Amino acid sequence: MNDFQFQNPTKIIFGKDQIKKLADEIPANAKVLMLYGGGSIKSNGIYNQVTEALSKFEVHEMGGIPPNPEYEVLIKALDIIKEKNITYLLAVGGGSVIDGTKFISAAAVYDGDSPWDLITRQKPVTDGMPFGTVLTLPATGSEMNSGSVITRREMKLKLPIGGPGLFPKFSILDPQVVYSIPQRQIANGLADAFTHVLEQYTTYPAQALLQDRFAEGILQTLVEIAPAIMKDNNDYDAAANFMWSCTMALNGLIQKGVPTDWSIHAIGHELTALYNIDHARTLAIITKSLYTYNLETKKEKLAQMAERVWGVTEGDTQEKARAAINHIEDFYQSLGIKTKLSEYTEDYRGTAEFIAERFTERGMTGIGENKNLAPDDVAKIVEMSY
Ligand code: NAP
Ligand code: FE
Repeated sequence: MNDFQFQNPTKIIFGKDQIKKLADEIPANAKVLMLYGGGSIKSNGIYNQVTEALSKFEVHEMGGIPPNPEYEVLIKALDIIKEKNITYLLAVGGGSVIDGTKFISAAAVYDGDSPWDLITRQKPVTDGMPFGTVLTLPATGSEMNSGSVITRREMKLKLPIGGPGLFPKFSILDPQVVYSIPQRQIANGLADAFTHVLEQYTTYPAQALLQDRFAEGILQTLVEIAPAIMKDNNDYDAAANFMWSCTMALNGLIQKGVPTDWSIHAIGHELTALYNIDHARTLAIITKSLYTYNLETKKEKLAQMAERVWGVTEGDTQEKARAAINHIEDFYQSLGIKTKLSEYTEDYRGTAEFIAERFTERGMTGIGENKNLAPDDVAKIVEMSY
């Protein structure tokens, strides 16, 4: 097992009707900026629950944060923060609103020239304006981690930003929010969380036995509840297990002591930046090719996954590893998620070379847990995903 430090300061408030506890978590004298997306919270009643819970606070609001939160939209919040002397941020939404709020939190206390530098300088963010979240969409784990991904549309860029200053102070997780989520987003949430676990588990073995079992537990739970939540998103127990699995998939716990990959995400972000494909679907496009390409270095863990998650008993390590790759693809497809780039865009030719060039420009010359995937390898993987 590798050495590690673990600290996750986010308080989780989980369960039915917990949004009303909001007022207990925010300092009484706070001036709050509530941030949300395109309006789903107004039609499903979450907006009313939040404003009611905060009736004693001075609350300002900014909606309109789009999926794959956009820099140009987010920086508008900085004017409101200045003008209204905001001291506390509240994200009410899914990964996009929460990620966007993290960027705003960092930018609100940043005294450099341009907030964009926060993204390009690639240094961990240590300070931010305090913020909490009300999660409306289980998927990303953003509600209990300090990472964020920001899009700059006119440059076709989607880049990460994060650091110890960007953990939410608290997150409220009421599984009842799942009742209004469209099936496409539920499928996305399942696939995103599933891939988060893969990126921290399907690496070379590190003898981290407990982390392996944690990871396998999350994978098994997602596989087990997927049919139930896809069939009926008003099933509270399925919703609750879905929600907690997504949070646990990326709150730092399962990555401790083990090597982590994240190359599926790095390549996937490019596909969203180029073609606006939903984040989770880009991961489903890349996973099979990446694991097939990297079979030699990943086969032990893939075989272990085949045995423990899907009960595969036949075959040698290589065959079990291939069985795992097929099971992963079947899982995505069972959610109605297509796994080839050409099923999303007709303009896929040239994508491989374009992404490889970008990675070269950014100095991303060795990605993956072994830091050995060069831009040429990335190009081959993307081409295998056409
Ligand atoms: P999202 O982009 O936040 O939301 C997708 C859609 O779901 C939006 O149109 C939203 O509508 C709708 N929605 C949200 N909650 C709903 C509800 N309760 N009922 C009905 N509709 C609802 O989706 P996401 O998958 O959570 O976030 C994706 C983003 O997170 C990507 O940018 C991805 O790169 C990033 N990400 C971050 C991390 C991390 O660790 N920080 C990890 C993985 C991915 P409204 O806009 O109208 O609310
Ligand atoms: Fe993700």
